[in-house]
Amino acid sequence: MNAFDYAVPQSPDSALAEIAKATGSSRFIAGGTNLIDLMKENVLRVGKLVDINHLGLDGIESNDAGGLTLGALARNADTAYHPVVRERYPLLSAAILAGASPQIRNMASNGGNLLQRTRCLYFYDTATPCNKRQPGSGCSAIGGLTRQHAILGASEHCIATHSSDMCVALAALGAVVRVQSAAGPRHIAFADFHRLPGEQPEVDTTLQPGELITHIELPPADRFKGHSAYLKLRDRASYAFALVSVAAALDVGEDGLVRAVRVALGGVAHKPWRDPVAEAMLVGQPATEAGFQSVADSLLQGARGQGVNDFKIPMARRAIVRALSVAVQGTVVQQEHIEGESA
Ligand code: SF4
Repeated sequence: MNAFDYAVPQSPDSALAEIAKATGSSRFIAGGTNLIDLMKENVLRVGKLVDINHLGLDGIESNDAGGLTLGALARNADTAYHPVVRERYPLLSAAILAGASPQIRNMASNGGNLLQRTRCLYFYDTATPCNKRQPGSGCSAIGGLTRQHAILGASEHCIATHSSDMCVALAALGAVVRVQSAAGPRHIAFADFHRLPGEQPEVDTTLQPGELITHIELPPADRFKGHSAYLKLRDRASYAFALVSVAAALDVGEDGLVRAVRVALGGVAHKPWRDPVAEAMLVGQPATEAGFQSVADSLLQGARGQGVNDFKIPMARRAIVRALSVAVQGTVVQQEHIEGESA
């Protein structure tokens, strides 16, 4: 790890001023659960770290729109176990608790979760070419080890996946990211926050230089709280990234017809994968397996594996149907919730 400058501002404005006056590469740091790894492995050489842990952005509060505002610096564990999140957004709570380990969830911030980098092995191996780490150097994953890699939205320059669980639920819930810069505040729809690799795989998000994530806005989602499920399929039962994950939520009327549905996929693309056109196919229809199959077929249109990871396409299809089938039966309170209360 190289030497770097370090600042500890006490307000968002002073944090933005510290970043603005930095010369060379600079980063905000909160929990540091991914950033410090990147620095230790020399994937990232930072000239200045601006510690944002004292900006007062760690609250979780109801908002005027009837939803919930998550502070960017609230910890993942505090968010997952917050009583309002558990009561009104069980999908988000379940997704967070499916990710990482308890120790990491205690440190990791909500804003940092959105900004975590891919876990592509070659990205962390500085002896191999990687367009995301060093633009124009090539992609070592193509033709290499691709078990974890994308089946949707990849490009010839990068086939990496986004590894967050929390973000899959936020995509399904239609969250909005609030950011602040010297130019003022800005709101970014969650669907527009992460980007596909295209010709610029080194750029993960639409966040602009000098912008600070301050909050994540959750719209009201009470219609979904009784019928949601987060299904994560991975190589081992804990502390592993998703091969495929599904955040599913349904609003089913007393007549048995679907009034609204949300489905987002994780582990399959450079960003959480959601398609409102696929979701619309189920609206007004009975909540049956045949309908869920149609949603899965539509969501996976154009899916293409790399050979090694071709298995993810049928796996994703079955996972979508399974998650919707579980959701329609009723939201299950995760066992981790109970363990968390007694810990
Ligand atoms: Fe790098 Fe993306 Fe290729 Fe992985 S998939 S080696 S992150 S360019």
